[in-house]
Amino acid sequence: MKLARDDLSQHGRNQEQAASLPSPSWRAALLIAGIVFAAALFGHLTRPLGFLSTFWPANALLMGVMVRNPGWAGPPGWAGAAAGYLAADFAMGGGLGMTLWLTAGNLTNASVGYLLFQRVAGMDRRLERPQSLLFLLLIAFAAAGSAAAVGSGCLVVYFGQSPMQAFEFFLTSEFSSNLVVLPMVLTAPPLAELAKRLGAHTAPPTWPKALLPAVILLASILIATTLGGSSAIAIPVPAILWCALSYGVFPTALLTFGLGLWQSTVLLSALTPGTAEYAAALTSHRFGVALFSLGPIMVAAINAARSRLLRELDLAANQDVLTRTLSRRAFLARSEAALARNLTENRPVALLMLDVDRFKLINDEHGHAIGDEVLVSLTEQISALLRRDDLFGRIGGEEFAVLLSGLPQPAALALAERLRDGCAQLRVPIEGHEPLAITVSIGLVWGPARPGSSLQHLLKQADAALYRAKRAGRDRVVEETLRAA
Ligand code: GH3
Ligand code: MG
Ligand code: MG
Repeated sequence: MKLARDDLSQHGRNQEQAASLPSPSWRAALLIAGIVFAAALFGHLTRPLGFLSTFWPANALLMGVMVRNPGWAGPPGWAGAAAGYLAADFAMGGGLGMTLWLTAGNLTNASVGYLLFQRVAGMDRRLERPQSLLFLLLIAFAAAGSAAAVGSGCLVVYFGQSPMQAFEFFLTSEFSSNLVVLPMVLTAPPLAELAKRLGAHTAPPTWPKALLPAVILLASILIATTLGGSSAIAIPVPAILWCALSYGVFPTALLTFGLGLWQSTVLLSALTPGTAEYAAALTSHRFGVALFSLGPIMVAAINAARSRLLRELDLAANQDVLTRTLSRRAFLARSEAALARNLTENRPVALLMLDVDRFKLINDEHGHAIGDEVLVSLTEQISALLRRDDLFGRIGGEEFAVLLSGLPQPAALALAERLRDGCAQLRVPIEGHEPLAITVSIGLVWGPARPGSSLQHLLKQADAALYRAKRAGRDRVVEETLRAA
């Protein structure tokens, strides 16, 4: 909570410096003191800019930082926060009584919000599903109400406001700051992940397309500013919703924050500060802008939850649960597609059928669970030897298939031999026993893709080759050339 003080003097001292850093909790306390000091100073100093005059981000920022790092929320952390507020206030020349009272209000918002967030699920603290926004709304309100109950008396005593007026002013200021700041803090990716994500998105063709919603949002804001009028703030709505559907929750929270600043500027610039009309409109504007921002963030949260679900469904449908290779269905579907591509591009294909030798014995001697472990180790070994685009799937119990595209016959045969040898070299550790050795037999069919060579045809030929490998004594590769169907 920040006061509209006009007699702020600039002499200052920074109290949260320390020469030594004795323990991690005190280091965290210093960090928190620094964050709060900077945010509070920002709140004080941006007031002359006008458009930020109602914006005090320190309390919501502190709440968000504590929610994300509960380990910091001990006595040293809160003491650090108090020191940060006091230092910023004294730096701006606040009197002792008023500063202490306001700091109590500020800390109430952050601590009540922190305690309430501890009671909701981790998913909701990260705003990962639509109902998280409801929790955010309720917590933001409860924290702001508590802060107003503690701090608004200060406005009555030092500024002569009526208790009702003071309470409303304090509540709306805290509530709106909570709603616009918390989504950004709660959803911000860790710095390391942010760097990784930015690095991963540098491929030139994706950038212009990915930026389009944000560019259209900017254009909408420019158009709205040019047109003016009381409804101009609604003009960017389609663009911000498009952004919410295109980006994650965090980028949407950032964009919505920027949009909210612009909307506040538009709304407040139409009024004359200091008038009764201005004061009356302020509450409505704060509520309006803050609640408006929840809309796009909720859309982004719904979209993120839906994408997560689709990814999980995709895995469930296409991945074998035990070995994480492609499921039979996915392998067959992707192999059909690869075969069609090879046919148009006139490239050769190779299909390998791979079966574990005497696997039943392993189950009988060591149990089914060890049999499962063997299958997992074996598939990891094979995956490590394959190229990125090779298709590898589990066709049946201990039977696997690999589809290779574009390899000449000697290379396909060499790869099949490497797989066989890789499996033979494998030793699966088991408790109380010598590590287990296993072998596989492989049937290989290779040939240029032809219109007549269906996947079923390839599978049948590879299966026949595998049968011959078994008959010939196992632990070997038997090759056939693809015959016309
Ligand atoms: P061959 O060398 O002729 O292939 O002998 P084999 O013992 O491997 O062949 P067989 O087809 O007789 O036995 C396959 C065994 O694989 C039988 C079955 O119990 C086992 N099996 C199939 N699926 C799984 C599985 O998911 N986990 C485990 N542990 N065993 C499985
Ligand atoms: Mg077998
Ligand atoms: Mg078998």
